[in-house]
Amino acid sequence: MTSGDKDFTEYKNCRLCPRKCGLDRTVATAFCREKSDLHVSRAALHMWEEPCISGNNGSGTVFFSGCNMGCVFCQNKAISRGQVGKYISVDRLVDIFFELEDKGANNINLVTGDMFVPTIRVAIEKARNRGIGIPFLFNTSSYLELQTVKSLDGLIDIYLPDFKYIREEDAVRYSKAHGYVDAAKRAIDEMVRQCPECIFEREKRLDVSNAIEPQKDTTNDTEIMKKGVVVRHLLMPGMLIQAKMIVRYLYEKYGDSIYISLMNQFTPNGELSEYPEIDRKVSDRDYDSLIDYAAQIGVVNGFMQVGETSKESFIPEFDCYGV
Ligand code: SF4
Repeated sequence: MTSGDKDFTEYKNCRLCPRKCGLDRTVATAFCREKSDLHVSRAALHMWEEPCISGNNGSGTVFFSGCNMGCVFCQNKAISRGQVGKYISVDRLVDIFFELEDKGANNINLVTGDMFVPTIRVAIEKARNRGIGIPFLFNTSSYLELQTVKSLDGLIDIYLPDFKYIREEDAVRYSKAHGYVDAAKRAIDEMVRQCPECIFEREKRLDVSNAIEPQKDTTNDTEIMKKGVVVRHLLMPGMLIQAKMIVRYLYEKYGDSIYISLMNQFTPNGELSEYPEIDRKVSDRDYDSLIDYAAQIGVVNGFMQVGETSKESFIPEFDCYGV
């Protein structure tokens, strides 16, 4: 970041997430391992989000480095620990947004930008002033202070929050995230308040004959989300009951005003010897049972994953491409 970008008071006494470290991130790092300097590990079209997010043209993902969660099963430790990435200015981030729009992205997808919200706000405002024409999507663990989510009101068009746990003891054991359940509930509530209804539009198809990015082999027309909330839950081994509780909570509270995306790609990362109960993949039987349950209680606005999705190929290379 340039020296002029350093005037972000929220970084001086960081309380962006429930860890409330109170640390001056312009000079030091805390749990999330990131100073206030924007740290980005990849910016590229991504084809493997939910169909209404990626569509055929792709979602313009910007992966931020660092993470405020401490998931023992993390698949992206190189970036969540801040080991990979480039330090960039706000203006470079704004340029990246436009480069992704020029490549045909359906949206700008800010992945794990939780620790950089003050800077992201400035970048979105600058991009809007320069005339960007695609929605901004905030892709988050939901481990955020309510005030942090409120500060994005009017800037974010689509929220893509995880709701990882509804049992506090699991949030602490597997993600070292005290207070996760209440924080995530409050954060998602605020997201739905900001985006109370899901709005879609027919995707504008591109001429991809000269595309450099990999393209999906499909000619289907797709409805693309322009506004709304899609809550994701990754089913974990042995946690079917918790997953059903989450689906029920979301559906009873928000009905068809949100989408619920149920994911099955949990993959052991080879570092789970202290957590043998989750050191395996999720069974098809458990995932099918979760999907059946969602349908049974009336969920219509949902996404499920089909086939073998727990492959490393779904994890992009964090090689600073596009940064
Ligand atoms: S984002 Fe969260 S973990 Fe990182 S310094 Fe701020 S309060 Fe601490």
